[in-house]
Amino acid sequence: MIRTMTRYTTGYTRWLTATMTTFALLFAATVQAADCEAIRAKYSCPAEQKFPLHLSFDDGPAPETVDVLAALRKERVPATFFVLAEKIDCERRLQECKQAEPASATDGSQCLEYRQCQLRRTILDQARRDGHMIGSHAYSHLRYSSLPKELMKRHFRASKRLLKPYLTTEPALFRLPYGDGWFNRQEKPHVLAALDEIGFVHVDWQLSAFDWDTKNQEGDKILDNVLSQVCSRKNGGIVLFHDGMDNQMHAGRTFTTENIARWIPAMRCVVDFKPLDYFLKNIKLK
Ligand SMILES: [Zn+2]
Repeated sequence: MIRTMTRYTTGYTRWLTATMTTFALLFAATVQAADCEAIRAKYSCPAEQKFPLHLSFDDGPAPETVDVLAALRKERVPATFFVLAEKIDCERRLQECKQAEPASATDGSQCLEYRQCQLRRTILDQARRDGHMIGSHAYSHLRYSSLPKELMKRHFRASKRLLKPYLTTEPALFRLPYGDGWFNRQEKPHVLAALDEIGFVHVDWQLSAFDWDTKNQEGDKILDNVLSQVCSRKNGGIVLFHDGMDNQMHAGRTFTTENIARWIPAMRCVVDFKPLDYFLKNIKLK
């Protein structure tokens, strides 16, 4: 009797669980559909068409990049990271520690800067192993079109040497800080010519999330920026986000890194996430 009751209870529990799961899925689907409907209405985006979009993140790696990687993994979205090579220049950190305190920095274990640098390398390696594209954002966050040519080239070469284990394509991807590549394409062609000579291909963006602007770092203004551009242009492209700071070695752009997991499903209402080679045909994966 007890066994029968148990069996009955187990069966009933299974049925109840299955029914609740079905309701939960239907409810989730309804909520998702309703959200998408509201999003399409808000930005006047057509229901019958989705626009191709590729996410790119500049100025990392930062500790908070792991939150971006987790969101991308969960949502199965490919992305490209344009990395500041000085953030993974761990030898430089070690040298700086040795100069400041020669006795304590023989293997780097006592050098906080070195250990933080190694962490950033681990995060970058994770991004590569997750299948994302990695490119150079130069050695430092400088306006290279205003620098002497030789210094500029030295920085480009240093970034290629340091990022060599992580770069994912041939030619290697590069994005100049401050949009220098396309603001100065006509007036200062020597910058892009140098990149070409060193074996880089410059990757522009077609849309910006404007997430660097602190005025946008509240509510869903950054999501608004992306969706209003996609829906008004009726076109996608490569969109620029940031996962790190240009002028701080450790801090991430926490507003973006904390919210990207929430913005991706909302973006998916109107876009199809595409890999970089959808937009950039002349690259070979390494
Ligand atoms: Zn930048």
